[in-house]
Amino acid sequence: MLKFLPLGGGNDIGASSYLVQINRFNFLLDAGLRPRSFKNTPKYIKMFELIEDWSQIDAVFISHPHLDHVGSLPKVFEANPKVPIFVPEQSLPLIEVQIYGSLTYQKRIKKYAEDYLGVEYSIDLVSNCLSNIKEIAYNKLTKIKKTNVTFEFWPAGHILGSASIFIKTRKGSLVYTGDVSTHERPSIPDLSYPSRKVDLLIMESTYLSSNHEISPQEGFDQLYLKVKDITEKGNHVLIPSFALGKAQDIIKMFIERNKAEDNPVPIYLDGLVKKITRIYSKVLGESLFFSLKDGSCNFISGIHNDVNEYKKFLERHPGIAIISSSGMLLDGSKSARWAEAILPYEGNGLFFTGYLDEESPGAKLLKCVSEKVISLNGEIIPLNAHIDRFYISTHSSASELANLVEMVKPKAVVLVHGNNPAQKIAEFQQACERKINRKLPIIKSINEEMIELGEMFE
Ligand SMILES: [Zn+2]
Ligand SMILES: [Zn+2]
Repeated sequence: MLKFLPLGGGNDIGASSYLVQINRFNFLLDAGLRPRSFKNTPKYIKMFELIEDWSQIDAVFISHPHLDHVGSLPKVFEANPKVPIFVPEQSLPLIEVQIYGSLTYQKRIKKYAEDYLGVEYSIDLVSNCLSNIKEIAYNKLTKIKKTNVTFEFWPAGHILGSASIFIKTRKGSLVYTGDVSTHERPSIPDLSYPSRKVDLLIMESTYLSSNHEISPQEGFDQLYLKVKDITEKGNHVLIPSFALGKAQDIIKMFIERNKAEDNPVPIYLDGLVKKITRIYSKVLGESLFFSLKDGSCNFISGIHNDVNEYKKFLERHPGIAIISSSGMLLDGSKSARWAEAILPYEGNGLFFTGYLDEESPGAKLLKCVSEKVISLNGEIIPLNAHIDRFYISTHSSASELANLVEMVKPKAVVLVHGNNPAQKIAEFQQACERKINRKLPIIKSINEEMIELGEMFE
């Protein structure tokens, strides 16, 4: 008997954490956070309907260092300091930056939301938690002590240190994809799944309903032309970007493309993007990523939290493109500050490249382009710059997810990390069944609703 209980990140994106019970073995897949939400951790209280207390969690597996998958790890560790925490190789420095970064961020958003109910961790707790984490090499079948359970991390092609997690007991096996990209990505090695017998596939479904099939390179080519057009005239471009993964793809593509140009686009990095780009360069090495020393991109420093300093910097550096976090222009972020300096002027550009939460300032900006004003960081800003959006995805499209199902050939699929309408899921199911030539149950998970797969792991 297998029981699957989504505590967060079932039919939504954010605070991914899933309790899985196979016979007497209980484990958590991911321990994420909803960074912007007032109630931001997974609903751990719900899992006590299946187990008595935290000491019955036998292991925690983390798929990758994005906060929506790892941000609640200190909370889990606090509740059960003895639990083994397994993470994929290369992910630890990024997990560290993400969790410490979230501490600073939580403090900052408290200023903007008085009724904030999020969690705050002490530095001691975070450092004890981090030192308890075990990094496991890719494709290394590992046995969990005192159990008959083995697991393996497979490169998931999503960001550096991302994995799909294969778990096998004597009675059956499952794969949790984590966030996954089957298409080639500029900054990291591709997804690679070994051939294994898999009964259950727990699969992310971020873009299962989306019709976007445009490749990251095509999306980037469109972006590059627009950026070049603006910067060649001496004007400025801001590309708000997720600090981890998306930004490094974009930077790598700019650097590669710039090599072929007589007048390359000057690239400047700011916010958490800088720190994470340095980690990418260190972990991947210059041959796989790029050298930080050859001047192919610049790291902005020494600007204090005053919009006039940002404006002066732009005056001193005409015709540059800035890549800065946050990707959604969250209040108080570096990208929101740059936006304050860039948006008032005609001729400048601000280009989004990814997911925008409906409530985020980024989504509001796209909606109010015709109104010519926007509220950012609590200020009303004139809006005259050119705003656009380009698709550079770090997730798989619907057809790529179907190809993944064809590759894994599971007996059943549980969808997580997305809220897809029944009609789209039915179409996806048909596409998968055509590929594998047999019926395939596909179950949409709903937060806090348990799924029992009685016939599996019997
Ligand atoms: Zn992710
Ligand atoms: Zn995610």
